[in-house]
Parts: sequence; structure tokens; C-alpha cells
Amino acid sequence: AELDTLDIVVLGVILLGTTAYLTKGTFWAKPKDPYGSLAQQPNGKAAKLGKTRNFVEKMEESGKNCIIFYGSQTGTAEDYASRLAKEGKSRFGLETMVADLEEYDFDAIDTVSSDKIVFFVMATYGEGEPTDNAVEFYEFINGEEPAFSKGSADAPLENLHYIAFGLGNNTYEHYNSMVRDTDRLLTKYGAHRIGTAGEGDDGAGTMEEDFLAWKEPMWKALAAHMGLEERDAVYEPVFGIVEREGLTPESPEVYLGEPNKMHLEGAAKGPFNAHNPYIAPIAESYELFKVKDRNCIHLEVDISGSTLSYATGDHIAIWPTNAGEEVDRFLRITGLTDKRDQVISVKVLEPTAKVPFPTPTTFDAIVRYHLEIGAPVSRQFVSTLAAFAPNEEIKAEMNKLGSDKDYFHEQTGSQLFNIARLLEHVSNGQVWDKIPFSAFIESLTKLQPRYYSISSSSLVQPKKISVTAVVESSAVVGRTDPFRGVATNYLLALKQKQNGDPEPSPFGLSYELHGPRNKYDGIHVPVHVRHSNFKLPSDPAKPIIMIGPGTGVAPFRGFIQERAQQARDGVNVGRTILFFGCRKSTEDFMYESEFEEYKKALGDKFELITAFSRESSQKVYVQHRLKERAAEISDLLSQKAFFYVCGDAANMAREVNTVLTQIIADGRGVSQAKAEEVVKNMRAANQYQEDVW
Ligand code: FAD
Repeated sequence: AELDTLDIVVLGVILLGTTAYLTKGTFWAKPKDPYGSLAQQPNGKAAKLGKTRNFVEKMEESGKNCIIFYGSQTGTAEDYASRLAKEGKSRFGLETMVADLEEYDFDAIDTVSSDKIVFFVMATYGEGEPTDNAVEFYEFINGEEPAFSKGSADAPLENLHYIAFGLGNNTYEHYNSMVRDTDRLLTKYGAHRIGTAGEGDDGAGTMEEDFLAWKEPMWKALAAHMGLEERDAVYEPVFGIVEREGLTPESPEVYLGEPNKMHLEGAAKGPFNAHNPYIAPIAESYELFKVKDRNCIHLEVDISGSTLSYATGDHIAIWPTNAGEEVDRFLRITGLTDKRDQVISVKVLEPTAKVPFPTPTTFDAIVRYHLEIGAPVSRQFVSTLAAFAPNEEIKAEMNKLGSDKDYFHEQTGSQLFNIARLLEHVSNGQVWDKIPFSAFIESLTKLQPRYYSISSSSLVQPKKISVTAVVESSAVVGRTDPFRGVATNYLLALKQKQNGDPEPSPFGLSYELHGPRNKYDGIHVPVHVRHSNFKLPSDPAKPIIMIGPGTGVAPFRGFIQERAQQARDGVNVGRTILFFGCRKSTEDFMYESEFEEYKKALGDKFELITAFSRESSQKVYVQHRLKERAAEISDLLSQKAFFYVCGDAANMAREVNTVLTQIIADGRGVSQAKAEEVVKNMRAANQYQEDVW
């Protein structure tokens, strides 16, 4: 029998559907994002369904000849990527786009044509690991035989021209390993790098200057390679601000700080992650220090109403809110005070750009909930803003600050101005109302969640996460008020409110503690959990040695809480030694009485060794105590004890590493070099674990 047209169409559809199903993930992109089905992603990104994961295709489609990938954890690499994109466009006429590594596949990287340029701005995280969004890229390129789309060839990437910059910290052993590896692997497959592979060093505090110093010769090399002509950079906004006359802050579709659509429309559902926090009740909060001038907060975050779970040693992220005074200062100096509640939509004028928060919203909500207005201002941003100065004199000053590194540091270095304070300072309080708001969205980092090492055991309290956070404040030369940390002062305000202070305002800072539309009322804080590899040995009988001065004690409180419970349950628990340090036993010795309780459960298995740095004329730190116990430590390590370090990455962790190497060299009678190798192997085997920041 003959098939009629309808039959053919029906069959065709079935066949297509079957092919699509069978080839899922091979020929067509799999939507990986759990929010892909939402009209707007929780973080304000456009919906992803149907979007290609082939970046070469994406560049073709959108007429780009330059793509700037970023591997970012805290937002700095992402910020540098967008700055490079802007500069490439405004100075050299490149058609640039910024891209999150996570949003693309890399098998087609071998199809990039040689007239394109690909940037990799790669942060290194922790122990030489890729940032969360770079994991898949790294696994692909670092794989034994990356499955390039055109199959294997001698130099599969010979058409690829790339540029690389890394963000690292020299206090870590695997300094800038992500950019070094990326560079090595791309070269190995035949790609050509333009300029040097730059490295910024957060450890030396020179990240921004390293970046600025790297990019000038890089642009020169790129311009020569692509035959680009430099022109006078004119600022072109990436975002357009549209005032929504029909809407008020009371309109139900207006975001007042809600992180995504689910939060706007009702109680947010899981999965809770870096795009979608859980608004968690704080069950309890109290002060851990016994002095007036410094604070350390203990919080109990209740996750029982959510799908969140954690394991001992994981991290919790706290989503902060900016202090009201800093929000006011920002709105005042930019001339937006009267418009703070004006409802606006933010539109992209550049099709590959993304609005980093959901809209429609208000200026107040953007500044309070979504932009990192407290961070030190970058010199490049100062240059950008010069064009919008209230008068010629201020403009000249801004240009000088932007172009003269030494002058900039002389003027702002000791003051560490945030954006509003810098504008106030340079204009002497005169309002800057000519700056396009787009410039702030482009140049300020998204307000970042802050991570904390969970200080409880999931065995003991699976539904309550403890946080131990020291409140940040540092004296600033030339200013009467010290710098106050964003997240920790917010937590301090929450603690004050919970403990009966009707108008909490730590150090005169007040916060919108009730959150958008009062959704955080009754003491709530937005959080998510990040799983870590910092873990107790699976066998509780294994001895453990923990080095945790200051808030570095946080995860170890969890470890010891867990082992004390195991001991009470009759489990055979191994030696559990904690080296703790602080200034004075009478001031900042946190959890002192709790440790006494754990001692009752663990008996001789538990030992707490303290170092108080301000109780004798000579400063005593944990690494000194460690040295004093060299023989015993060496002995325990031969019994395969696990060795843990948590806290300050800059000094303490490095010194502990040195002392440990010495202990091993002396204890085993081997050379320094051999001992270093032993320590390296311990790290590789997870017998030596660090949780440092
Ligand atoms: P921020 O506002 O982020 O400021 C941080 C520092 O930056 C300030 O101290 C200051 O020196 C400097 N700074 C920033 N802007 C300026 C400016 N404009 N002027 C002058 N100086 C400025 N912390 C804990 O207390 N406990 C923990 O258990 C813990 N665990 C962590 C685990 C991990 C994996 C990581 C990555 C970090 C951890 N931290 C922990 C640190 C924590 O995440 C925060 O960095 C810390 O609490 C400070 O946050 P904040 O928002 O209060 O300060």
C-alpha cells in the first residue's frame, strides 16, 4: 500500500525523534544546566535550552573573531575576561565575546580557524585544582587522548591561536598550575600562543598590577599578529538601562534582591548551589571571643527544611548583603539616591553579554545584593571613569591615577578605596552623575558568596551546620574608620539581632536583615554547601594530627566532635592531636570548654597542644609546638597518621610544611630533598591535606 503524505510526515517525525534520542549528547548539545528550562536562569542568565555548546559555531553565528574563556571561582578571572573583551573591542575593534568554560564543549576546538583568537583566563584553585567551572575543560584537554572532532592528527590544534593569563597564589605549592597546564597542553597539540602566558600572584598582592603589566605587550603582539590597528578607546556600554514606568517596587515581577525566579515566585526548591541559595534559618548564634574589640561568631545554620546535606570537612557558602551605609554612599556619589527605588530593566546591547542579576529590579537592590561595592577599586576602572568626571580638573586627576602606577598606589594604596570612596575622594564629594550605570555592572565583580569550613560533624548533627567566622576589620592608614569585611559584619549584625538587639549595627553598619520582601525575617541567611576533599580517614582507628590556629580550628572542631561521638559509641578511635594557636588563653581561645568535653569522651586518645602568641616575650606559634613534638610526630607519621593543616595560607601553612619536612628528615635520617619528596608523596596520597585560604 502506498503511504499518503501524512503517514510520511508522521514516520519522519518518529524517525527524527529516534535518531535524536539515540545520538543524544553526540550530535546535539545536552542541556546540562538544571535551570535550563526556566525562562531566566537563577543568576539572571538567559535560558540555555537549545543553545549550542560548540563555541566555534557560536562565534560564527554571532560574528565574533575573539572569544575570552574564563575559569573563575571568586569572580576575579571572570572580571579580567570581561575587561579584556571590552578593551579588545574598544581599542582594537575586535569582535569579542566572554564565555564561561562550563558552558561549552571543547571537542571542536580543532575546528577554530586561524583568523580567530581564543583567550584563556584561568584561576588556579586550592591544591592546583581547576575552578569548578573549568573542571570539564581541564579533564578534556588533560585527558590521555582528547577526542578532537576531526580525530587525531600530528598537530590537531595547529590553527588555534591563543592567549593565556593565570590567576594564582605563590604561597601554594602548585602556583598557577592551571594556566601552566593549559598552556603546555595547547602547545603540545600544536596550538600557537600569542605573547607570554601571564601569571598574576595573589600571594604577593600584585594580581592587578601583574595583569596590567602583562596585557600591554600582549595587545601589541596580538595587534601585530592579526594586523589590528589601535584606535582611541571610546567607552561603549554593554548594558542599556530602561526605566520601567509601569512598575513599582511593590509589583510582583520586580526583583528586590531575590537571587532568581524561584525565589521571586515563592519558596525556592533545590538543588541548592552556587546559582540558587537556600534561605536557611539560623538556629543559634553566639560570640566566641572574650574581648570587646575583636569578634568571632559561632553560627548554627539549620538545613532541615531543605534538600541540603553535608559531610564533615565540607564548606558552606554564605551569601552576604552590603552594608546600608556603603549602599547609601554609592548611590549618593553616583547621583542615584533619588532614583534608588526606580524600577529598571537591564538589556544587553552586546548579544553575547549576560546581565549578572535578574531584572526588572531597582538600583537599590542591584547595589545592595548583587555588586561587590566594597572591594578595592582597580586602576583600569579609574581610567574608564575619567571620561565621566564632573569637571576637567577631576578628569585630569583620574587620568593621572589611571595611567601612573606609582601615583595611584601613593594616593590609594594605603587607603584601599572602594569605588564610592575613591569617587568621593577625587571629586571632594562632588556628585558623579554622568557615569553610565552599565560601567558599574561591567566593572564591579558580582557580590560573591563567602566560603567557611564547616565546624561541625555531620555524624553528630546532620541537619545543622556550624560556622566559625572571625569578623574582618583592618586598620586603614589615613582613615579614621577601619575597613570592615562584607560578609562577616553582616553575620555579626545577624547575631546581634538574634540575641535581642532591636537595631543591630556593628560598628555603625546596618544591614537589610529582613531581606527582599522580608523573606529573611526571623533570622535567615542564604547559603549553599560546597563539597570538599578535606576528609577524615575512613578508618577511625587511624591517628590524625591537626594544625589549626585561629579560625583554622573550624573543621577540626567538626573532626573531634565526630571522633568523640564515635568513642562514645564504642568505636576504636585513633590518636587525635590538635595544635591550636591564638593570641591569649583569656581572649580568643575558642571552644576551650567544648574541647574539655571531647577530652572526657576521648580520654588519652585526644590531646590539645596550644600556642599563645602574646603570653610571653617570645611569640609562640603552632609550628614551634610542632617542632617540640618532632619525635612523636615522626613516629605517628610512620604509622600512617593523617596530617591536616587549616587556616592562613600565606604564612602558617608554608611554615608548617617546612617544619614537617625537617621532622621527617631528622626522624628518618634522610636528606632534605628526600624529605621533601616524602611530603610531596604524602600530599599526593591524601595523607597530608590542606584547607587554607
Ligand atoms: P571581605 O569584605 O571579603 O574582605 C576580606 C579582606 O580583603 C579584608 O580583610 C581586607 O583585608 C581586604 N579588603 C577587601 N576590600 C577592601 C577595601 N576596600 N579596603 C581595605 N581592605 C579590603 N573564614 C573564617 O573566618 N572561618 C572559616 O572557617 C573560613 N573558612 C574558609 C574556607 C575556605 C575554603 C575559604 C576560601 C575561605 C574561608 N574563610 C574562612 C575566609 C572567608 O571566606 C572570608 O574571606 C572572610 O570571612 C572575610 O570575608 P568578609 O566578606 O567579611 O571580608
